Amino acid sequence: MKYLIWFLVILLAIWAFKRSRRSNSDAPQAPTAATPATPANMAVCLHCGIHLPQEEAVMGEKGQYCSTEHRAAAQDRNPV
Ligand SMILES: [Zn+2]
Repeated sequence: MKYLIWFLVILLAIWAFKRSRRSNSDAPQAPTAATPATPANMAVCLHCGIHLPQEEAVMGEKGQYCSTEHRAAAQDRNPV
């Protein structure tokens, strides 16, 4: 009977140790699940760096721009 009590105490200690380790490792994992800087449907203006929806972006030979003015300012032109 004495051994059974010691066995239960050791099991409880192992369970408490594993539980504390798991709660510690969970904490730093939360910020790593951050959203990416640029979603797939967003474009970045090569001239001013502003983010805009892909369908509103102006295409140039070097990349995408927020407006035709910025495409001209970047000395780029319409690829078509
Ligand atoms: Zn721009």
